[in-house]
Amino acid sequence: MSNNGHKIELPSSIVIRDLAQMIEKSPIDLIKKLMTNGVMATINQSVDFDTAAIVVAEYGFEAVPEVIEEASKEEAGEVPLWRQMIAGEDGAQLKPRPPVVTILGHVDHGKTSLLDAIRSTEVAAGEAGGITQHIGAYQVEKKGRLITFLDTPGHAAFTQMRARGAQGADIVVLVVAADDGVMPQTREAIAHAKAARVPIMVALNKIDKANANPDRVKQQLAELELVPDDWGGSTMVVPVSAKQKQGIDDLLEGILLVADSVEIKANPNGKVIGTVIEAELDKAKGVLATLLVQNGTLEASDIVVAGTAYGKLRAITDFKGKPIKKAGPSTPVAVMGLSDVPSAGDIFQVVGSEKEARIIVNERMETAKTLSQTKKKVSLEDLFANVQAGEAKELNLIVKADVQGSLDPIVNELNKLGEGEIGLKILHAETGNIGNNDVMLASASKAIIIGFNVQADVDARRMAEKEGVDIRLYEIIYRMTEDIEKALNGMLEPKVVEKTLGRATVLQVFTASKFGRVAGCKVTDGELRRGARVRLFRGTDMIYEGDLSSLRHEKEDAKEIRTGFECGVGFKSFNDIQSGDQLVCYIVEKSG
Ligand code: GDP
Repeated sequence: MSNNGHKIELPSSIVIRDLAQMIEKSPIDLIKKLMTNGVMATINQSVDFDTAAIVVAEYGFEAVPEVIEEASKEEAGEVPLWRQMIAGEDGAQLKPRPPVVTILGHVDHGKTSLLDAIRSTEVAAGEAGGITQHIGAYQVEKKGRLITFLDTPGHAAFTQMRARGAQGADIVVLVVAADDGVMPQTREAIAHAKAARVPIMVALNKIDKANANPDRVKQQLAELELVPDDWGGSTMVVPVSAKQKQGIDDLLEGILLVADSVEIKANPNGKVIGTVIEAELDKAKGVLATLLVQNGTLEASDIVVAGTAYGKLRAITDFKGKPIKKAGPSTPVAVMGLSDVPSAGDIFQVVGSEKEARIIVNERMETAKTLSQTKKKVSLEDLFANVQAGEAKELNLIVKADVQGSLDPIVNELNKLGEGEIGLKILHAETGNIGNNDVMLASASKAIIIGFNVQADVDARRMAEKEGVDIRLYEIIYRMTEDIEKALNGMLEPKVVEKTLGRATVLQVFTASKFGRVAGCKVTDGELRRGARVRLFRGTDMIYEGDLSSLRHEKEDAKEIRTGFECGVGFKSFNDIQSGDQLVCYIVEKSG
């Protein structure tokens, strides 16, 4: 979209907030203009091209239809994951589908209570006994439209899905307790939602409490670029009390408004694809899995591949436990019949035959093997190579520091560095040690974790290893900025690690005219390799370090000598060898 003089390019439909931003006018002003033209709309609602054209004309702009460059948007990674999942579908066949909502927020702010409140007020009403089973997702109806809720709150589940390439949720409802305000996990949740490019709305919970302070929370949200709509911003903030079941209707209506502003679509007749929400092994029933259909329509006897599990479905039930024959987009279902337990976040698809299923599963297992062998996803050392290969355009960072006082200057310094050719994006900056959640976010967003005067928890380190996430710890700010700067300029030396090849003991020393003094050694462990590096120890003192320039076995040149064998070893320009000395042979490798 560009604003060429008085001409302005507009898409076929545009959200009021974005339109206001384009013409640099206040959204309130715009809404008023719309009202005088007989159009009632809120800041998050969209208007079509014609309506937008009339309004912008009042400000002196001439609207022209936007030329869409879909491909470049996808290249920039600006397309939500679910859209990428259905990229092959014919645009004309796409139909609106219910929004899928996940609830994130700080511990004890009321995520579970809110999910319970929505479920009990909206679903159970009129249904004797309500829902007897919990399958990890449920649906409610509002104004004749469905909304799907993921019933596993918290960003661990959300990010785990994203790390596997799935995007379960279309909208994030951020729960913030009105008496407690924005807390570390609130900020973390915002970082996760932003990294996933999922719109955020806020449920301001616990407003029933005497010490609730909604204005303070709004202020805090505004500081985090979530400016509340009643303050002229674009983030919907709905006051609720999960405990007293107040505000639930408003919240659901708000969700529908947000859903309208982001166009959530699928092709109900297209390729059947979706995400595994949860799965377990039941002793009596076999594998039970909850699937969220995201495109196409799943049918009761379909053959499904989910991660590396597959099988012909034996039964599909809805979230209330009622058997159903078909499930369209955004429907959560419980299924039986898979061969194995898939992981939450695995993508599933329907295939034509069990044979085809087996082929796909075998391929996936092979890919998983190679992936784990080449596990590094992104490291600072690789950054520049990735940029040159066109695989990265910016460096994503997660910054953890010991205290706020050091976090702020670090973030400032880093932001300055990101003004060059390669952008630098700080996904999350917080005080405290590096934990699992940081690693999951890094893994899902191909980010690097920078720690300043903090440690990485043991679990986090293990997970980083597994996921191939680069954690870099610093104690001096300029060392950190220096490293990042060098990486951005492609000047960072590759990280090197030393690998010990073997050890040997010197049994006797003799003189050979060609090499000077030669050590007659026995290899006690591993191997000695010609051309590798060696260190010579006398007791605990290291008396020489250099190249192993000559290696012979019974007067023949040898490439390597293994444990138990004897050999002659010579060093270039070093002769002070004694029997009893110990040799350690090693090589230096680029890591990653
Ligand atoms: P979660 O950790 O975010 O899932 O939070 P919970 O839903 O477990 O709620 C934490 C605590 O806050 C529980 O003791 C709830 O009873 C209480 N709580 C949740 N919502 C409200 C509310 O709207 N008002 C009040 N007064 N308490 C609430």
